[in-house]
Amino acid sequence: MNPPEVISLGNMLVEIMRVNLDEPLDRPGTFVGPFPSGDTPIYIDTVARLGRSAGFIGAVGADDFGRCLLDRFARDGVDFAGRVLPDHTTGVAFVAYFSGGSRKFIFHWRHAAAGQLGPEYLDPDYFRAARWLHLTGCNLAVTERSREACYRAMALLPAGAQVSFDPNIRPEVLSVEEVRALCRPAIERADVILPSLGEAAMLTGAATDEEGCRLWAAQGKTVVLKQGPAGCRVFHGPEDLSVPGFRVEEVDPTGAGDCFCAGFTVAILDGLGLREAARFANAVGALAVTRKGPMEGAPTREEVRALMAAQGGA
Ligand code: ATP
Ligand code: MG
Repeated sequence: MNPPEVISLGNMLVEIMRVNLDEPLDRPGTFVGPFPSGDTPIYIDTVARLGRSAGFIGAVGADDFGRCLLDRFARDGVDFAGRVLPDHTTGVAFVAYFSGGSRKFIFHWRHAAAGQLGPEYLDPDYFRAARWLHLTGCNLAVTERSREACYRAMALLPAGAQVSFDPNIRPEVLSVEEVRALCRPAIERADVILPSLGEAAMLTGAATDEEGCRLWAAQGKTVVLKQGPAGCRVFHGPEDLSVPGFRVEEVDPTGAGDCFCAGFTVAILDGLGLREAARFANAVGALAVTRKGPMEGAPTREEVRALMAAQGGA
């Protein structure tokens, strides 16, 4: 395949989730899975489903969980430019859901194939046609080598290519200062920043997300604040657009943010204006929550069109 237009990189995981609510992970219970997952794999798979040429750099083990991920990429048309490592097993996330909407995770990632990604995985030639690179905060935080890979990806982009950045990071192990320092180079280079609740305030030190988003907008960024069922808000220069979400029945919210980022990327590459791009991304995010599994709801263009047509006023 020709070098892709949209590139992402990072952790490749399968997700294995509790079937029932309120079954904690420290005792026997019923799981379902594996489902292909990982924030940037969800993103890139959605880009491909939406019809843009997409490539991914990461690592899986030479096992069935790895095949689960690679088969999904192959089915949806993502070019895999990563490695299959015979001496590591594929990364796994175990997830429990609780009434009230909270989730708890156990990640086998840092010491798995996913944690081996480093800057030497990146072939400069692979970036020659790139128009868009998507990075996330968790891939800047997981290992130093993963971070170096992300920074190198930015350096390899041709002139004019855009960078989107989803902070997707909670300062659980790292201090807020450490998180800010890790994210700074990505935020400085990013054309588009797509935070969720709390992240803009945390990363900028502003009192509120709104103030944090305005700070980034004043630096020339397009900022898209994801707001769950409410949709999103777009800040660009002095513009501040509230774009309402679509009404759907939420089955599983995991992955909505990543699918949303993919929708926004594709819409901007299609040449849509900010409001239309945000609306398209809202539709992609809404469809993502209607199916169980992080990537299972990633829609095709036809599904997005159908939802937008059905809820014309949304
Ligand atoms: P995560 O990191 O858990 O994947 P996030 O916090 O980054 O999610 P959300 O704001 O939860 O992102 O969801 C992203 C987008 O998906 C929202 O901005 C909205 O457009 C859409 N979305 C999410 N949940 C719903 C829902 N229940 N109904 C309609 N749209 C939704
Ligand atoms: Mg998020």
